[in-house]
Amino acid sequence: MSFEVNRIRKDFPLLDTQVAGKPLVYLDNAATTQKPAAVLDALDAYYRSYNANIHRGIHYLAEKATAAFEETRKAVRDFLHAGSTEEIIFTYGTTDGINLVANTYGRKFLQAGDEILISALEHHSNIVPWQLLCEEKGCVLKVIPIDDRGDLILEEFDRLLSEKTKLVSVVHVSNALGTINPVEYIIGKAHAAGAKVLIDGAQACSHIPVNVQELDADFYVLSAHKLFGPTGTGILYGKKELLLAMPPFRGGGEMIKEVTFEKTTYADLPYKFEAGTPNIADVIAFKAALDYLGTLDKEGLARHEHELLEYATAQLETIEGLRIIGKARKKISVVSFAIENIHPQDIGIILDQQGIAVRTGHHCTQPLMQCLGVPGTVRASFAPYNTREEIDALVAGLHKVKKFLS
Ligand code: PMP
Repeated sequence: MSFEVNRIRKDFPLLDTQVAGKPLVYLDNAATTQKPAAVLDALDAYYRSYNANIHRGIHYLAEKATAAFEETRKAVRDFLHAGSTEEIIFTYGTTDGINLVANTYGRKFLQAGDEILISALEHHSNIVPWQLLCEEKGCVLKVIPIDDRGDLILEEFDRLLSEKTKLVSVVHVSNALGTINPVEYIIGKAHAAGAKVLIDGAQACSHIPVNVQELDADFYVLSAHKLFGPTGTGILYGKKELLLAMPPFRGGGEMIKEVTFEKTTYADLPYKFEAGTPNIADVIAFKAALDYLGTLDKEGLARHEHELLEYATAQLETIEGLRIIGKARKKISVVSFAIENIHPQDIGIILDQQGIAVRTGHHCTQPLMQCLGVPGTVRASFAPYNTREEIDALVAGLHKVKKFLS
């Protein structure tokens, strides 16, 4: 099966939008992906025909909604190649998943003087929860540096890792630079040193296959909205023995076995971590996104995205004064760049006037921008539905930016 981008574009209704009288060129997929019609239909079907609260009701609608909700859990288990649905916790997204681990595993098992290792590539959501934990517990946050290309310096990782390291929390794929980190290596080394590992998979899952058991990740987090699913829901995968040992995060309905005024006993996994009414519609529609992804030719998709990356890199480099920031050896289809003497935000505004959506600024990675010595970048990030013609439009748009602003 060849990869048919034009057919795929038809599955995403929003791509027909006009912006400023021009066809939308959506190159902000690392911020959020567009949704296929199947996801919109699943949301609509839930609210129109079986809206009910889940797990508690015995009536027809409640049972139908509960079954659909739990089908998503099975689909995520299969998608991540997890061992069991007990290890799949629904969260509000990647940020929520990391906060859950920091507040439960972190607060229970980390002590003053213990070290947490992150990398210079991290999103704020994989920095700030650990800083909060360090402030509370007296732990120490250490950072694996990157080289000029945007690759982690693994010798520095090896050097920083010690018997004091209790947790390593690193991004699988950098949202700002596209770097694919060697997480297998990191997990292996961290485990040998006695540390647990959390992988932030927010950007990885839509681009590369993830097998949490093969990786041997202790925790893996992601957001549905980066994976063609709805906003407001995501996943924490955790190894069963760790989840069993962790206290709950939020208290409330759903997460209990029995409540008295004296004492509460908690529900079994995974419900122990799912207090309150979850984001039912969005969880259900997330399965439609995973099913949709499952219909795409994986090899064709990887080839298409790689070609977009190579083409974009080559074309952008023809623009005088443009510097690509982040040339890691292994990258997903994300290109960050700066143009001499032009502020990234001005570039974004002028591109927007041409219907081209890119992201500008620090990409929630301020410390990374400080390491790179730039105030921010312009980032074009590609999805299966993007085309070479859209990259040509970006390049033409950038020539206009230069004409206006140089
Ligand atoms: N980590 C990475 C690498 C990300 O790209 C993002 C989203 N930009 C997040 C974490 C946070 O994800 P969310 O806002 O969906 O919680």
